[in-house]
Amino acid sequence: MACNLACSWAGPIACPRDGTSECERAIENDIINAGIQELRRAEEKHPVFPEDLIHKLAIMAEESGEAMQAALNYYYHGGDYSQIKVELVQTMAMCMRCLKNME
Ligand SMILES: [Mg+2]
Repeated sequence: MACNLACSWAGPIACPRDGTSECERAIENDIINAGIQELRRAEEKHPVFPEDLIHKLAIMAEESGEAMQAALNYYYHGGDYSQIKVELVQTMAMCMRCLKNME
């Protein structure tokens, strides 16, 4: 079966590229693992995370804004497409960090 995901898979797991649910699971697992790796990196680099909810979410929102900026750079200025993925993974990691540090 031909892949109908039209993805740009570049993960460490060999992509079956057959459009099956197994293919989608491999992609999802790799995305989640990238988020966990980024979370670990961020926690090590910045061990202190704000106590208050507003500043926690501000950090996440900053990463989200950087993802949007990367998309604008790509779309209007021929910027690097992979930077969008980098910023999205950082946004995901900060969402995870916020959830991890909620009461
Ligand atoms: Mg960033």
